[in-house]
Amino acid sequence: MNKQRTLDFFSKKRSTPSIDDSVTDDSSETKTNLMSILKKPKLDVASKPTVTSNLPMKTYDIKINFQDLAEICEVLENTPSRLAKLDKLEEFFDHIIEKDTSQLDVVTNFLLNQLGPEYIQDLELGFGEHLIIKILQETFGYKIASLKMKLKEVGDLGQLTYKLRGEMKTVFAFKSKNDDIKISIDEAWKALNEIAKTNTHKEKIGKIRPLLSRMSPVETKFFIRFLEGKLRIGSSNQTIGVSMSRCMMKYDQVRGRSMELDAIEADRILRKVYSQVPNYSIIIDKFLEIGLKELEEKLTLQPGIPLKPMLAKPCKSALDALAEFNDVKTGENDKFICEYKYDGERIQFHQLNDGTIKIFSRNSEDMTAKYPELVDFSKFYKNKDEVQSLIIDGEIVAYDVVEDKILPFQILTTRKRKNVEIEDIKVKVCIYVFDILSLNGKSLLEETLEERRRIYMNVFESKKGELQFANNLVSDDEAEISAFLDQSVQDKCEGLMVKALTGRKSIYQPASRSKFWMKLKKDYLQGVGDSLDLIIMGAYYGKGKRTGFYGGFLLGSYNPDNDEIETCCKIGTGFSDEHLELLHKTMKEYESEISPSNYMYDSQTKPDIWFSQPKLLLEVLCADLSLSPVYKSAIDLTGNNRGISLRFPRMLRIRDDKDYTMATSSEQVLEMYQSQSNLQ
Ligand code: ATP
Repeated sequence: MNKQRTLDFFSKKRSTPSIDDSVTDDSSETKTNLMSILKKPKLDVASKPTVTSNLPMKTYDIKINFQDLAEICEVLENTPSRLAKLDKLEEFFDHIIEKDTSQLDVVTNFLLNQLGPEYIQDLELGFGEHLIIKILQETFGYKIASLKMKLKEVGDLGQLTYKLRGEMKTVFAFKSKNDDIKISIDEAWKALNEIAKTNTHKEKIGKIRPLLSRMSPVETKFFIRFLEGKLRIGSSNQTIGVSMSRCMMKYDQVRGRSMELDAIEADRILRKVYSQVPNYSIIIDKFLEIGLKELEEKLTLQPGIPLKPMLAKPCKSALDALAEFNDVKTGENDKFICEYKYDGERIQFHQLNDGTIKIFSRNSEDMTAKYPELVDFSKFYKNKDEVQSLIIDGEIVAYDVVEDKILPFQILTTRKRKNVEIEDIKVKVCIYVFDILSLNGKSLLEETLEERRRIYMNVFESKKGELQFANNLVSDDEAEISAFLDQSVQDKCEGLMVKALTGRKSIYQPASRSKFWMKLKKDYLQGVGDSLDLIIMGAYYGKGKRTGFYGGFLLGSYNPDNDEIETCCKIGTGFSDEHLELLHKTMKEYESEISPSNYMYDSQTKPDIWFSQPKLLLEVLCADLSLSPVYKSAIDLTGNNRGISLRFPRMLRIRDDKDYTMATSSEQVLEMYQSQSNLQ
């Protein structure tokens, strides 16, 4: 193995000007958009490091202390400025890649608080407060009640562990000789993976205790927080990606690769590649081999790895949609298609080269076990021999085969998620195909939707009630579109999806929510507004009929800039008894006296009980949105120290198919507030 280190460039003072040199880091920072952050000048020729293209691309086997990783987490937690965070992270990635390239993916996954990408099962640690308290009890010898008291004082479990470890220098009666050897990142990572694989609490505790004994206070703090799933370093996926792309750019330039890229391009490439292959281990490995520039060409979507789906923006009327595709400003006059917006579950079907079928949710979770009847997918092919592999985008809907009609979404949710046997299936489903992203190893993302439609219609034979193409209309007549919208609602759909068929807007853009796809729901026309998917942050105890359950909830929107959750309403309407029972059952184990540090709220809205994890989302409709002195949603963006709140919110459904990072963002809340008709 090559143990040579590549210290040359990274050990020198960084030659790119600090970001704070070009962008003033003051209170206006929150208004600085990402593009301006990225407008860091290219390395100027004079200060550019000497290109040494024969430098080794990879280095292995250098032990880096876990302490380094814990310390950067501590620094990030204590650095409120997003710009400064970007710099600190970039420096840290430089430090890692300089020492041992093979550890870059481990530290990235650690900072993202995951053992690996979402689509790989069994990588969940999922430690609740209860289990961590038990670990602390057994490790430090305190009583549970006393630990709970201390927890209230210090705020979170990581901080509590830090304190306990710091106070008790020689807690461990039987010191082994290993205790003085520093833990490396590699060792900590292996341990975390092993802990994920163990089944019983006893086994887990057995693995964690000896590690805690060898860790410094700051190491224990972030190790415990990682187990809990809440690193609280205030760095979103996006922030980590930007810093990583800058580090990659410099690494390439030292090696004479991708010389023409600047920070904006580097970020664009990494985002694009990540949206198609959301797995940092694969990306980093390939990057080291071929460099950032080539990555864009050579690392594209592949069957077996779910890509982030393309999403839509709401539009208010058929007229709005028409205007979008007949752009007077640019002169673009694209054809577009209206499709039924089915109310079911977004699904990506993958057929791998060996014939295996994988079904992924919009959250990239592997759902294959939920739909065993669909694993024989080839029965839908016109010609089996012509399909080696593919990726399909579509919606699965509950279907009444006797009455030949679509059933409501609620019926679909009654299906079991795991260990489903074909003979036990009561709720039949139909797949509505609306896109194809890859066929026989060829990416179709850059093709027009018109072409992609032609391709999938050639591949599949539609079968009523089993696999159908999304019902559609190609027309630019407003009255016709409105009638089609009415028809879709009568046919138990949510409304229409309006998509560009031809031109640049008709390509498939993974992970993007733009006006290339628009959703038109009946609700919008009535002025009620789009629904929002909001995070449950806390709850109020139920009274009367609701005694013993939660009577209402505090909800928030997501701010991806700093990974914070910002309150926007209390809600108590729209819940059935079943909903309340389910919510109580699911959220009870996350109850906590203290609010996680990334929850932004005002004391006037403090709930009776917090939830230590943003586990569930509720889809909510409201009468309108207004500025508020107590709610915090989009407070950084409104410019007047007020947040935005929802008036008369009503729950539509529990969204367990989205994680909290997919909740309605605070920026979207602001957009919805600004687009209200009464403000225009
Ligand atoms: P919503 O809460 O309205 O479902 P969302 O956040 O899940 O919104 P959007 O991008 O806003 O996602 O709306 C698109 C969703 O509509 C898709 O994720 C998919 O589940 C569903 N859908 C139903 N029919 C279609 C269709 N013909 N084309 C695209 N998406 C469709």
